[in-house]
Amino acid sequence: MQQSPPRSRRKPVQDFSLAPVMSALDAIEHGGAGVDDALRQLRRRHDCHPSHLAWAAEAVQNVLAARAEHVAHHLPGPGALPTEDIWVAAAELATPDARGAVRYERTAWGRRYASADGRLREIWLLSVNSVKDRTAAEIAEAAAVAVTGVPSVAGFGEPYRPTGAGAMLPEQVRVVAVGCGDGSRRVLADWDAEEAVRQYTRHAKPALARVIDLRANQTSPGSACVNCEGLPSCSQPPTIPLLLGVNRPRRVRRRRSVSVSDLRTHATCPAKYHLTRVLHLKSAEPESAAIRRGRAVDAWLNEQHRVRHSCRAALLPDVLPGLTTEETGPAARMIAEHAAVCPLDGLPEDEQVEVQPRRTAYDPELDAVVIADPDLLYTDAGGWVWRETKTAASRPWEGRPLMESFPQLALAVLLMSAGVLGGDPRRSRIELELLYEDGSACEELCPADPGTVEEARRVIAALAGPWAADETCTATPGHGCTGCEALRWCGPGLGHTAGS
Ligand SMILES: [Zn+2]
Repeated sequence: MQQSPPRSRRKPVQDFSLAPVMSALDAIEHGGAGVDDALRQLRRRHDCHPSHLAWAAEAVQNVLAARAEHVAHHLPGPGALPTEDIWVAAAELATPDARGAVRYERTAWGRRYASADGRLREIWLLSVNSVKDRTAAEIAEAAAVAVTGVPSVAGFGEPYRPTGAGAMLPEQVRVVAVGCGDGSRRVLADWDAEEAVRQYTRHAKPALARVIDLRANQTSPGSACVNCEGLPSCSQPPTIPLLLGVNRPRRVRRRRSVSVSDLRTHATCPAKYHLTRVLHLKSAEPESAAIRRGRAVDAWLNEQHRVRHSCRAALLPDVLPGLTTEETGPAARMIAEHAAVCPLDGLPEDEQVEVQPRRTAYDPELDAVVIADPDLLYTDAGGWVWRETKTAASRPWEGRPLMESFPQLALAVLLMSAGVLGGDPRRSRIELELLYEDGSACEELCPADPGTVEEARRVIAALAGPWAADETCTATPGHGCTGCEALRWCGPGLGHTAGS
């Protein structure tokens, strides 16, 4: 289905981390290019951010090294060579099913290798940073596609076309995961053909049936909406004209999703935004203690709230995942401070509570899907309450307006005043809970107050304007460079930290 009129596909900067990695590997594995040549060609690309290319050059070498190790490990067995054909497992139906479909095609995205005699196939699943955990359904599906798929080429809008080459189905299949960022590698499955089919029937088939069913019956708005042609006519997410307070730009670009964390990161440094929020690149450096502490406190509170326990009576934890013994003390003191302001304390049984529910809205001017993840939503006497909880080492600067310090609150005001949550706006409120080691504070904002809404618009527009207009994501080096997860690949940032 195509959107009408067609929407812009323009990408001023490549936003898919693995795109340059895949093309360089294609050049090496299918085009016969030498590694040095392929890397030289990679660095000459104009569609990618320079730091993205620096990362991709490392990633290509990491994948090749992982591949070489894997091949050496499995010697003297049959070697598998790169294959350009896509394996397609297709099911043709004699009559259209309830959804009107007559053909289903299943493919698995990754790099493909096959032994010369066709008996062994391997599919490599690439992830951006480290090897990531995959579900049994994902692994079984990749294996099943590799073991039953017919070598084909893309039909570009048409069904895949079989190439006719090497059509013999294999006897053995391996699914291998590789992390492009660190070169980590894990064999997820090493099965004979019968086992692959068994695993598919057991794990993947039910999952696929659920996916088809879900799409037919309900919506699940989120970042996937950026790729959906049906968005303008869909019931979700709700359309809020000028939500971000920025007029349609002169040069329209491909739809994007955006959160307040994205906007804040962009305001700090556009390159950091692109590398960490869009491309999701992560260096192997450990995260700061403050970030880990905040996450541990959030996780503990969410767990309590999910089972509707008021935190007042809860036993304080003496261990928290991800924290050392010394770090646990301050985090536990923050949790203790929360008990006094826990919103579930005394909340009547019939009120609704939602922990970290995703809320989305669509800004048609910027063609942007706006995503918010409140810490907690709950109803209170006919209105909704949006609660944000922040842990902090010190009090925020008194002179700075609350919504400027915490722009999540400004977006909450705009979404609630536009009725995204429902309920009576005059009975609704936004709460900011600040937790310190030695105290807490709770601030309130009213989304029905015109002055508050106006200030919220100003705060969000000031962040969204530069984000919407930015086509280059140029680094703005400064004190934020120290501890930046993308510093390793950032020329200007490395120059700055070396000089200071
Ligand atoms: Zn609580």
